[in-house]
Amino acid sequence: MFKPLSKYNIHHLPVKEKMENTERLRVLELYSGIGGMHYALKESSVPAEVVAAVDVNTTANEIYKHNFPNTPLLPKTIEGMTLQDFDKLNFDVILMSPPCQPFTRIGLQGDVADPRTKSFLYILDLLPRLSKRPRFILLENVKGFETSAARDALLKTMRECDYSFQEFLISPTSLGIPNSRLRYFLIAKRPPESFSFPTSAEIIEGFPMSDSSDSLAVPHNHPTSSESETEKTGAIIFKLETEQELERKRIQDSLETVRRLQDFLKEDEEDIDQYLLPPKTLLRYTLLMDIVQPSSRRSVCFTKGYGHYVEGTGSVLQSCVDVNLENVFKNLELLSEEDKLKQLHQLKLRYFTPREIANLMGFPEDFTFPKHISIKQQYRVLGNSLNVHVVSHLIRLMISK
Ligand code: SAH
Repeated sequence: MFKPLSKYNIHHLPVKEKMENTERLRVLELYSGIGGMHYALKESSVPAEVVAAVDVNTTANEIYKHNFPNTPLLPKTIEGMTLQDFDKLNFDVILMSPPCQPFTRIGLQGDVADPRTKSFLYILDLLPRLSKRPRFILLENVKGFETSAARDALLKTMRECDYSFQEFLISPTSLGIPNSRLRYFLIAKRPPESFSFPTSAEIIEGFPMSDSSDSLAVPHNHPTSSESETEKTGAIIFKLETEQELERKRIQDSLETVRRLQDFLKEDEEDIDQYLLPPKTLLRYTLLMDIVQPSSRRSVCFTKGYGHYVEGTGSVLQSCVDVNLENVFKNLELLSEEDKLKQLHQLKLRYFTPREIANLMGFPEDFTFPKHISIKQQYRVLGNSLNVHVVSHLIRLMISK
């Protein structure tokens, strides 16, 4: 049965458990970016305040400050902070999303040898030496982290510091959101606090089953890695879309537990035409792109190169649906460039706007960008961020008894 997203609002969740405590938790948000964790915390309605957010990225920090002017934001490197600096913050919770490039295919999987992992190893080194260890820790990273040496180091520290923990691989599709963004999560708490669900040494895929019949656990779909299966044919690079992939897309589109993209679109946006794919991109890359329609119940993960690099960075929208996609592509190669363009133009293919991506990622209406932040920068920071609804659920799961 389809449920409107508002029903997923945390207030309506069938979570019976009471919060651990009613006093406000002091939260440290590390690698804060544009504040995805902060929004998730707000949405979770757990009584808490972010006592410090830390990030080195100037653009992300401007956006964070714009939206959370009252949160202390430390524009510095994590490894530039001393044990005393951390101790002074006297926090109960760490929410963090360490840089993911060391663990992605594109990032060459440098893992712990990658300089970008240094700050994370520094945190692991500090944790046992803090004068007060945090009661809760939530970490987000890409799929791929679970097979890294950095994860081994994380689990070792969790055990040494006496945390109980659970790992997950979750995509927003589990919550009925038509966007794949499969991510690794760890939630951890210190005894005597224990989890409200049976934990497992295995990584849980999706949300754990709730004991209510109104379960959150909707099967989720793994994104494909098909973007790499490409072939060069003249000027156009063809996507080898296998029968299997087409079938998977068809299944995704028929899953009524997942909402349609149209609920997240903002077609009335001023100057929407600026998002139309330029002729050069149409000619060279159309066959490579993942094309979706407003009625689709899926989209691929939006990454930071969206709107700039075409391949595998996120879906594009066919905004004119009066035209049949397959007909447009039939015999396309045989046409002259001019006719090809004419044909492709009928589809009105456009990029999702940053606001639409923010909608899919669960950012609330009141999340905005400062005026001077370019569209390219907006895509970049959103691509680095996280799905707010997914993390909000995990925060609840972590804190509830
Ligand atoms: N969760 C965030 C995004 C995390 S992406 C959001 O919702 O936007 C990782 C972030 O870590 C980036 O913003 C990057 O600037 C920051 N970062 C990377 N290395 C860092 C370091 N050593 N110290 C502080 N911040 C760092």
